[in-house]
Amino acid sequence: MTNTEETIVALATPSGSGAIGVIRLSGPAAITIAQSVFKGKDLTKQESHTIHFGSIADDDLVLDEVLVSLFVAPRSYTRENVVEISCHGSAYIIESIIKLLIKKGARSAKAGEFTLRAFLNGQMDLSQAEAVADLIASNSKASQQVALNQLRGGFSNQLKMLREQLVNFASLVELELDFAEEDVEFANRDQLKKLTHDITRIIGSLIQSFELGNAIKMGVNTVIAGRPNAGKSTLLNALLNEERAIVSHLPGTTRDTIEEVLNIHGINFRLIDTAGIREATDAIEQIGVQRTMEKISQSALLVYVYDAQQISLAELNQDLESLQKPGVVMLVVANKIDLLSQEEIDNLLHSQQAVVISAKEKFHIDDLKNKIYHTAIKDKLTGNETLVTNIRHLEALQKTEESLIKVLNGIDSNITSDFLATDIKQALHYLGEITGTVTTDDLLENIFSKFCIGK
Ligand code: GDP
Repeated sequence: MTNTEETIVALATPSGSGAIGVIRLSGPAAITIAQSVFKGKDLTKQESHTIHFGSIADDDLVLDEVLVSLFVAPRSYTRENVVEISCHGSAYIIESIIKLLIKKGARSAKAGEFTLRAFLNGQMDLSQAEAVADLIASNSKASQQVALNQLRGGFSNQLKMLREQLVNFASLVELELDFAEEDVEFANRDQLKKLTHDITRIIGSLIQSFELGNAIKMGVNTVIAGRPNAGKSTLLNALLNEERAIVSHLPGTTRDTIEEVLNIHGINFRLIDTAGIREATDAIEQIGVQRTMEKISQSALLVYVYDAQQISLAELNQDLESLQKPGVVMLVVANKIDLLSQEEIDNLLHSQQAVVISAKEKFHIDDLKNKIYHTAIKDKLTGNETLVTNIRHLEALQKTEESLIKVLNGIDSNITSDFLATDIKQALHYLGEITGTVTTDDLLENIFSKFCIGK
């Protein structure tokens, strides 16, 4: 995967030109390689966490004036010797310096190789390493907070504690195997059962947190639908007016669906296929057409808008019925209340569970935003909870849960110690997959290849 005898090099800042570029070296020879091209102080004799001004030269040819930051092993991101060269951000200079460092013995880093080394050297566990990637990709306050929380170990600490307790029991059960003839029980079954119950409950709540965690990380897929002229595009514009999120690329987005992203209280709502609304044609707009239904089934939240002045109760109910989809939460919005009398509005509020707005006059748009937020997030977000955001973790947790249920069933039906030990080990295995106590090359390859080069 990575030969840690080798010293790796890569640009850590985005490629292209910028004010500065930071080139990062990591590995046993990082400092000596940097020294071999540096004119200034002798870097090999400097303290860790110091910065030095000098120039980088290929023999006599000076390439740039730079600042060199030194991190001496193990006090660095990778726990290896790390040197960061801050040079002027010209693509030409950066490429020349990297080529020179390679000539002097470094090798180009692969995607995620710095973080892979940090993981292999025990600087962080696997879920923390994955949080690094999530943090870099975070595009809203909530996704940044969740990633940061995971990076700080909140998630894996909890799992590690559970795992340790289970390991204790596994060893007691294993001990029983050595005394098979004597029919002893070192592992108190009641205690084991209680622990397994407790762990299963916690795992269960982690599994449940995925829905919210994923919404925070990926954004909440949202569709605005309604009959032609209900006011969908007017509403879209009113919503996006102030809150349009600055997002260039969201993971999992296909390029051919045009999306707008609305940020409400730190959560991104991805408004799916807004092109359909913007360039409205009757074919696309008609409720009940295939396309609308497809959009709705891909979404988590449906904002159904109707013209409160035009539509009859029967038509409304018919729409609501035909748009109902399992797993999609619907928010009903009565629009154009500026055309209604106060009495009509009051009636509407009494008879319908709808949010009443005027998209055109921007009445109650903030109420609608709050409603959208609370409908999607409910009251689940307190800011401190552990949330699972990673599909790999979700799968491992689900497998852990299955094995724990086997353990519980096993205890209840008094199965022999060897079967019990096997089931506990299985659960431990899946728990370990999350934090990286149990890994395979394929798994690591899969995770770290998704990182950018230089991280
Ligand atoms: P869409 O077909 O659902 O996208 O509807 P539009 O947003 O294009 O709106 C259709 C018409 O209704 C336009 O003339 C809008 O100006 C008008 N409209 C939209 N919202 C309101 C509203 O809140 N009040 C009033 N009076 N007119 C509105």
